[in-house]
Amino acid sequence: MYKTNTCGELTITEVGQKVRLCGWIQKSRDLGGMTFIDLRDRYGITQLTFNMETNPTLCEQARTLGREYVIQVKGTVAERYNKNKNIPTGDIEIIVETVNVLNASKLPPFTIEDNTDGGDELRMQYRYLDIRRNAVKNNLLFRHKLSMEIRNYLSGQGFVEIETPFLISSTPEGARDFLVPSRMNEGKFYALPQSPQTFKQLLMIAGMDKYFQIVRCFRDEDLRADRQPEFTQVDCEMSFVTQEDVLQTFEGLYKTLFQKMKGISMEDFPRMTYNDAMKYYGCDKPDLRFGMPFVELNDLLQYRNFSLFNEAELIIGICAENCGNYTRKQLDALTDFVKRPQVGAGGLVYIVCNADGSFKSSVDKFYGQEDLQTVAERCNAKAGDLILILCGKTEQTQKAMNELRLEMGNRLGLRSSDLFKPLWVIDFPLLEWDEETQRFYAKHHPFTAPKPEDEYLLENNPAAVRANAYDLVINGVEVGGGSVRIYQREIQKKMFQVLGFSDEEAQKQFGFLMNAFEYGAPPHAGIAFGFDRMCAVFNGVDSIRDFIAFPKNNSGKDVMINAPSSVSKEQLKELNITVNE
Ligand code: ASP
Repeated sequence: MYKTNTCGELTITEVGQKVRLCGWIQKSRDLGGMTFIDLRDRYGITQLTFNMETNPTLCEQARTLGREYVIQVKGTVAERYNKNKNIPTGDIEIIVETVNVLNASKLPPFTIEDNTDGGDELRMQYRYLDIRRNAVKNNLLFRHKLSMEIRNYLSGQGFVEIETPFLISSTPEGARDFLVPSRMNEGKFYALPQSPQTFKQLLMIAGMDKYFQIVRCFRDEDLRADRQPEFTQVDCEMSFVTQEDVLQTFEGLYKTLFQKMKGISMEDFPRMTYNDAMKYYGCDKPDLRFGMPFVELNDLLQYRNFSLFNEAELIIGICAENCGNYTRKQLDALTDFVKRPQVGAGGLVYIVCNADGSFKSSVDKFYGQEDLQTVAERCNAKAGDLILILCGKTEQTQKAMNELRLEMGNRLGLRSSDLFKPLWVIDFPLLEWDEETQRFYAKHHPFTAPKPEDEYLLENNPAAVRANAYDLVINGVEVGGGSVRIYQREIQKKMFQVLGFSDEEAQKQFGFLMNAFEYGAPPHAGIAFGFDRMCAVFNGVDSIRDFIAFPKNNSGKDVMINAPSSVSKEQLKELNITVNE
């Protein structure tokens, strides 16, 4: 037996016991007469003690052991003289009798400490050392626990985990596919799935009723901090359900997860239509940890002498409470913020609500005190508040105000990472017009059903058709989304027509699904959650990379194993791929 105990479990109750421990040397301290070693494994740290007087040979040996050496020790648990209240094993130490060096270690390229001196690139290159650090290790443990809780809950609700294939065929909708050449079928390619969407629908037709899978998905997109080319979804589908059933089931999942993972009892999640989300927050994933909704001001501010407002499609304001004392410099900084190309506003208009009930604004030339007062009332502003106003084209102004609102939330400390505000956004539009290609795209995906009451609009006013499609948003992050699906061939066919597919194209690409619809497809609906993102959101961090054992960097590379890499000419030849040199 290598070890009797872990490095995280021995306490005062085991004093006197003979034990064996294995682990890595975190650090050693040589105090002349005594040498102390902190031995670390996944479970914790235990102090080892070597006494120069009672066992000089062993003590000399201990002094030769470097950081991250892997050792096995035999010894006796003893009560510590200097107790360490910060760790569970802090009351005891091991009086070591023998040391067995299992493996030496080179000096690690960065310190294996909570606050390491290693930069991003270096830590990615030596990810196995990075994972030894508490921060990364705990994230992986959290991820494991979360996946167990999800499986327990869903299994308890009658969901069955079923695997779907990774080698499938490429489809033109959605993001770019990763392709895999087929050796046995010359000139043909598999694609890695962007999601198991069509397979889970086929499983419903197959009668499996409730399916889930914690599954890897692949999308060849340009990367951002919160995107990975391969990521994990909690993918779910149910038969004979309405939107309401889906929302209830998965609200139940999240309530359970908040309870089990964070010890928080959540109230029922609020719901907001897509249209309201855009109107009041300028985005489809509002952060509801704070208020500051948009207030429309067109009718109050237009048709005076101020041409900027008169020419605007939309004028909206937000009220920043108690910010009336902002200095010129702070207001200038906000103006610079909204003018940044990423935000894209032309300028910022402000109204300060003075303590004496008067107003001071950047448009005093055009508006009198009474005008400003009506604006303040509309915005629910009180003395001491600051009203920030943007105007321009509708979409652009909503987008810019969304950024400004979030920025104000940050500045005012209203986006605390231990506050959780979930929201269902519902009634998404079915379609989205793309100016560049001059065609409609499915807002969610082409298998999403139009709301029955909007179906008649499909032919003549497709942009107005709403779907029973929903997103779950937590703290302004979209953690998942899904929809009620089409399950009748005719409607699916019509949907593909609206998306600009010829009937032949539709049959060629999705014939397998449309044919299956003709063999007794049940009404069904589902949802998928980004599992990596769920981990990040529960922990109040932005980057999903911290919760993936071996993530890719911003250029989609794994610098540790050097992927992607070149392959030999022979391999390419076997795959019938010719490369011009
Ligand atoms: N397959 C969809 C996605 O990956 C989710 C769903 O509709 O269930 O976004």
